Amino acid sequence: MDIRYWNEEIETADRAGIEKVQLQKLRVQVEYALKTPFYSEKLNKAGISSADDIHSLADLRKIPFTVKNDLRESYPYGMLAVPKEEVVRMHASSGTTGTPTVIYLSDSDLKACTDLTTRSVVCTGGTKEDVFQNMMTYGLFTGGIVLHYGAENLGMMVIPASSGNTLRQFKMMKDFGTTIVHATPSYLLHIHGKMGESGVSKDELKFKKAFIGAEPHSEDIRLKIESLYGIDAYNSYGLSEMNGPGVAFECIHKDGMHVWEDAYIMEIVDPDTLEPLPDGEEGELVLTILHRNAMPILRYRTRDLTRIIPGTCKCGRLHRRIARIKGRSDDMLIINGVNVFPSQIEEVIMKVPEVGTNYLIVVEKAGELDKITVKTEISKAMLTDDTRDLYKLKEKIREKLRASMTISPQVELHEPGMLPVSQGKAVRVVDERKID
Ligand code: ADP
Ligand code: ZN
Repeated sequence: MDIRYWNEEIETADRAGIEKVQLQKLRVQVEYALKTPFYSEKLNKAGISSADDIHSLADLRKIPFTVKNDLRESYPYGMLAVPKEEVVRMHASSGTTGTPTVIYLSDSDLKACTDLTTRSVVCTGGTKEDVFQNMMTYGLFTGGIVLHYGAENLGMMVIPASSGNTLRQFKMMKDFGTTIVHATPSYLLHIHGKMGESGVSKDELKFKKAFIGAEPHSEDIRLKIESLYGIDAYNSYGLSEMNGPGVAFECIHKDGMHVWEDAYIMEIVDPDTLEPLPDGEEGELVLTILHRNAMPILRYRTRDLTRIIPGTCKCGRLHRRIARIKGRSDDMLIINGVNVFPSQIEEVIMKVPEVGTNYLIVVEKAGELDKITVKTEISKAMLTDDTRDLYKLKEKIREKLRASMTISPQVELHEPGMLPVSQGKAVRVVDERKID
């Protein structure tokens, strides 16, 4: 079996070795965190005024959780732990309205982050001989650039294709001899349908691996991608708060994603009680990033639901694995890779005076892509037979949603009282996509 490591010593370290590194790095992160207005207040309240208050990994539990809203409230620089001139990179999370969640990296943070994405690529069997076509969106989003750097660091030829322009994707794959692509699973399925139109046939490609992530997907979706293209597809998990891709990645055995535990401390907690759960039980993943001097984030509630896979992996890495993400403990929707909170949609449509009180968001599959429809009741005053007025209103709502959220939903208008009203808690979202 062909197993390669990027950093053999740390990748094959035993538990004691990993935990030793974790404690050492956690103490450094606490020192940096204490330099920020946000954490100094939080940590002082919890009785932590220096790294000396962290004696063991068990002391992590003294540290309060951090949530997405904390990042928003600290916008733009409230969580910065180094002078601004030391920042070399920033990213912002996709699809959020109003105040974005921004992260900052120093030069050493960026090197550490790049090392992890290189390690991730290597653990799937990637080598410098590979040609890597990155079909993830570039820009503020971490998905594109962060893995780009990792692949480049390994010495692969990287094609920064970004998403979109489907027909050209196949042409580039053929012309440049692409062996690995990185994309969302829905995009890979979507473009497959266009291969015929592009004039390129599967036999003309050297395509052999795909890294798929950024959105929930089932094992069946993976198998479908693998059989349609005749490749191996590896699950990749990350979130911008934790540097994006390179948090957890599947190795050649494709049996759960190794969380790089020298770089992240993971906890699985009950999302209601926030108490830790034993290995193997499903709960919310909480992550502490261990090398982010510019902007430490301690005990971040990812809201992603998963479990630790018991036992060790055949690849020899003792970094524990998590199962594919089952869902979220909040109501965040991921629409073709863009994060959308129903509350954002509500905020936009309720500012439109012609809109009535009830609305419903429906998410479904249209072919391989996600389709979102916003159904809203209109106010009584808007009841009219003039279809032009209704058309204009629909376009106005759609435009407002597009402007604030980078998604472009279908809009349906309904007469007052026509949308279903639930008996108990209002049901605002119907998600007809199946994950499992
Ligand atoms: P990124 O920019 O890396 O996509 P975001 O912060 O925009 O990061 O989105 C991160 C979220 O995307 C995660 O919290 C998770 O809900 C989802 N996600 C990322 N990768 C996967 C994956 N492999 N499987 C399921 N969900 C994923
Ligand atoms: Zn493995």
